[in-house]
Amino acid sequence: MIVHKFGGTSIGDAQCFANVADIVIEHYNKANVATPGEVVVVVSAMSGVTNQLIAGARAAAEGKDSVYREVKARLLSRHLGVVETLLTHSPERLEVGRLVEDRLHDLERLYRSIAVLGELTVRGCDAVTSFGEQLSVNILAAVLRDRGVRTQAISATKLIVTDDNFGAATPLMDRTRQRLQQRIRPLVERGVIPVITGYIAATEEGVTTTLGRGGGDYAAAIVGAGLDADEVWIWSDVDGILTADPNLVPHARTLTELSYTEASNLAYFGADVLHPKTVRPVTESGIPLRIVNSFNPTHPGTLIVETPSPDRELLPAIISTTGLTMIAVGSEDDTWTLQMAARALQRLSEAGVEVLMFSQSFSEHSLNLVVREQDQAHCLKVLRREFEDGRQGSVCSLGTKEQVATISVVGMPGSNETGIVSHTFSALGKHGTRVITVAQAATEYSVSFCIPEEQVADTVRFVHRELGLEGENEQSPGEHPGCDQATGGT
Ligand code: ASP
Ligand code: MG
Repeated sequence: MIVHKFGGTSIGDAQCFANVADIVIEHYNKANVATPGEVVVVVSAMSGVTNQLIAGARAAAEGKDSVYREVKARLLSRHLGVVETLLTHSPERLEVGRLVEDRLHDLERLYRSIAVLGELTVRGCDAVTSFGEQLSVNILAAVLRDRGVRTQAISATKLIVTDDNFGAATPLMDRTRQRLQQRIRPLVERGVIPVITGYIAATEEGVTTTLGRGGGDYAAAIVGAGLDADEVWIWSDVDGILTADPNLVPHARTLTELSYTEASNLAYFGADVLHPKTVRPVTESGIPLRIVNSFNPTHPGTLIVETPSPDRELLPAIISTTGLTMIAVGSEDDTWTLQMAARALQRLSEAGVEVLMFSQSFSEHSLNLVVREQDQAHCLKVLRREFEDGRQGSVCSLGTKEQVATISVVGMPGSNETGIVSHTFSALGKHGTRVITVAQAATEYSVSFCIPEEQVADTVRFVHRELGLEGENEQSPGEHPGCDQATGGT
């Protein structure tokens, strides 16, 4: 049995949905030759949807009714657009169209109650964001049914049982395995393809939780482990894990084989194609993971296993993230303390704001935080509230630097390549990149830094070349046919 997980960009529009349906059916037919069925599908929300859902919820909490209504209207037209395009003459059209309308009506009611309360909790945010995946599974299932495949859309709130750590819940594997074996295995054995929501889950009491942003991959691994799958395939929009973002470096090379530890290390540094927790559930049972490209399905991608073959090439990877803001929080005098830094990080975590990188500087009495652009306003609000002092206003100063990017250069322990960090710094100096802040792990294999966004493309290309990562058999850019690709969060 193979679990296939499709990310948000793989189902970004109607054509992409159709492409995913083709891939699923091809694998289903192939698997059928040996054993009937044996295909399980896990899907994310359409690209950008989770961000929009969160923006709507924050607007609702601030009483901005027109903003959340606009979010709902946009989601309605985008999802119905896919239904109309792919199921124009299908008997499926009416039913799934109505389902989309009903679910979004429920979303609007939820937004309204958040507006009444005037507050958005992380628990409330999980309830809101669960809508994205619920819409996409139903649409994909309808498209597959329309093509004659037996399938069933299933919400993972009935399958993945977690603790109540909203925003980043942890699965309770025994209970989850039980449910997967009871509810999913019999379907698969009858040749039905289960299409399961990624990212979302529920507590034992049935309260909706989420596994953390980008958690669709993690969900697929949980499903794979609970069903004792043979492999888990993560379909995204790039040819596996590469030496650099192929949108910036057309000649970036695929890391063909990685160990679980190496892959999760790269994911922790922000490699977008894999959620950092994904390897956890599959490591124990040694289920192989593959990272493959739904826009280039014949490319073998990256294989992640316990013990990769000894003769594979050990290449470092450059991981870049754009669309970020740096926030400097501190004080002009010496009132800023480490405890205040800890408080700032704690409050942001409770508010569901992910801090992608931080560095503390004593001489400047400040803490530099790097957050996603869409979290900037919320982050500032949380910090202002935390450090407000009735008499004097805020006890700390807040500065922002917008449009920054982070770059991490991560080497593979065990490779002959030494001096990754010094190599990288000398490349930055040679290129004239303006480094805003640096973070370094206690190893000599990796370094992360924050730079102005406008310099990211040039810098990544330059460092890639300086580290000798250009492939010998360079392909010319734009060789891959298929849907228009766009990388970005969902
Ligand atoms: N839709 C979720 C997110 O955007 C989960 C995922 O795409 O993996 O974070
Ligand atoms: Mg992802």
